[in-house]
Amino acid sequence: MPLLTLDERRTVLGELNRGVSGCHACPLGSQRTKAVPGEGPVDADILLIGEAPGYYEDQQGRPFVGAAGQFLEQLLSSIGLKRTEVFIANVLKCRPPGNRDPLPEEITSCSHWVTEQQEILRPRVIVTLGRYSLARYLPGMPIGRIHGDARKVNGTWIMPMYHPAAALHQGSLRRTIEEDFKKIPAILERARKEYEAAANVLTPPSGAQAELTASAAAPQASQMSLF
Ligand code: URA
Repeated sequence: MPLLTLDERRTVLGELNRGVSGCHACPLGSQRTKAVPGEGPVDADILLIGEAPGYYEDQQGRPFVGAAGQFLEQLLSSIGLKRTEVFIANVLKCRPPGNRDPLPEEITSCSHWVTEQQEILRPRVIVTLGRYSLARYLPGMPIGRIHGDARKVNGTWIMPMYHPAAALHQGSLRRTIEEDFKKIPAILERARKEYEAAANVLTPPSGAQAELTASAAAPQASQMSLF
């Protein structure tokens, strides 16, 4: 299967966003103001996955724009990153009424969107924010035990974090998530090196072909049929 160029990946991501915006796979689709597909560069090395849109996200159609989002931006800034350099998404693409917890059937019907986002983005590191996001990759693992402890799942580094909204209002959790965030740069560096090492297994040809070969050789959690 041919790999997609960056422009083609942008196009596929745009199609996905339109799909999310028109999605009525579960009842949340008819209760939302705006769907919140997620946002960030298609070649972001880091994909952060939260729980679900809240009030402000539902109004604006953008992830993490309320108080938790401001805190998330501070956490990113503490490791030298801007929110425009990472991709931010949620397990659910529509707001559950009253910000209640996601229902299992909502998670099931929405789950393929994040799977497809991951396949398009091919991030080096996925940062899970909170237990619903963690459960996608490490089901049954308690956040209290594994937060800040990165591990590889199907070839992709997963860094489990507390949810910023939970950490924002609890002093001890706040310090914990601040400390956990500081571990991201080292994991990212390691993930990048592993990716490059995998790419160098093949003799690198020049130009655009080298780019394609690097992508082809890199370990992937899964491959979209398009790729
Ligand atoms: N909490 C989330 O999990 N996601 C958002 O987008 C906002 C708050």
